[in-house]
Amino acid sequence: MLTLGGCNPEPARPAAPPPVVEPVLAEARMHMVRDQIVARGITDPRVLEAMTRVPRHEFVPAAQRGEAYEDWPLPIGYGQTISQPYIVAFMTAALGPGPGDRVLEIGTGSGYQAAVLSCLVAEVYTVEIVDPLARRAEADLKRLGYANVKVRAGDGHHGWPEAAPFDAIIVTCAPEQVPQALVEQLREGGRMIIPVGSQWGAQELYLLRKTPTGMQRQGVLPVRFVPMVKGRS
Ligand code: SAH
Repeated sequence: MLTLGGCNPEPARPAAPPPVVEPVLAEARMHMVRDQIVARGITDPRVLEAMTRVPRHEFVPAAQRGEAYEDWPLPIGYGQTISQPYIVAFMTAALGPGPGDRVLEIGTGSGYQAAVLSCLVAEVYTVEIVDPLARRAEADLKRLGYANVKVRAGDGHHGWPEAAPFDAIIVTCAPEQVPQALVEQLREGGRMIIPVGSQWGAQELYLLRKTPTGMQRQGVLPVRFVPMVKGRS
């Protein structure tokens, strides 16, 4: 029997035991990792383990649960989507997350990407502009025992200045240009993965590295993300 919960349970594990997942879901998840992720060339064993552990079905609406381990994005309400599992794995692996890292995510959505990261790094800070999505993701992450994730409702263009600098930043919505605040909040040597482009035109996923002489930028994959919208502040 497979039991699941947060991957860094030390600080504030809920008193209730972690949920026990039905074997059929655990098996679907193993197939997802093997057929969609390993088969497309992701080899980082820590990323594969995290994707095998995190109960993706807990982060999708009840009506979509039967599709939680399928090879496509799913609606999560408010016109937003949870990314295709392969994209989550690809972006996570591209960041090269280390156990001591502090990571900023922009675009919490369902909280699933944050949960995967929480298994791999020391601390995750995640910002979501749609308030009810932020609240729901925060509640789900807490319920499932992901105690090293902090959620904030707000405009990710500002990053999370009080918690900066970050070792890595992952952006899961697409701005037309890399927001300057995020560049500033990345430590030197840090990595950022971010889709850049317009809502209707081409978007490219970029891997950026902050060096003493500026940002190195490498296009890694053509993608399609929801736009990174501007808040009112
Ligand atoms: N990482 C998510 C999927 C993200 S979908 C997951 O694992 O489920 C992209 C999310 O970015 C949406 O929820 C959208 O509301 C959010 N978003 C769009 N513009 C934003 C902004 N300026 N700041 C923060 N979040 C934003």
